[in-house]
Amino acid sequence: MGFESIGTAIAMVNGSLELVKKLSSASGAVERAELKLKAAELIGSLADAKLALINSMEEAQAQQRTIAELQEALQLKATVGRVFDGYYQTDTNGKPHGDPFCARCWQADHRLFYLTSARPGAVETTCAQCNAKFPKHRTPFAIEQISTAAFLVAHHQPVD
Ligand SMILES: [Zn+2]
Repeated sequence: MGFESIGTAIAMVNGSLELVKKLSSASGAVERAELKLKAAELIGSLADAKLALINSMEEAQAQQRTIAELQEALQLKATVGRVFDGYYQTDTNGKPHGDPFCARCWQADHRLFYLTSARPGAVETTCAQCNAKFPKHRTPFAIEQISTAAFLVAHHQPVD
């Protein structure tokens, strides 16, 4: 992603301006046919510039979405911490609570998806988004009920 299409649009508008300048400074009688030809050239040039501007607008919108996603990820980063193999929301004291989020999705995309357990006796938790599987005992639900959790998050160390 870049600003190539904005540059292209500027170049095309400049080309159109050159055409208009030539037309306006044409001395003597300009043949009607020649005028029509130049007008057609001008229309084509302006249409290209319009396309290039639409492309740059789409690029800018995509960049705005990326910025919004990154801002959201930054905000989330301050409120989640790793415990064992999962990520959990933390309170203002850094104490984790609630159910685990997928570590793969968080580390790869900075997006939070809850891990789920297919049934009460299952030995794994699964991410519905990326299908990653984790040992259930290392991604416990209701983490606030585990006493060492606050320590682990405070030191950002996964423990075996
Ligand atoms: Zn995932």
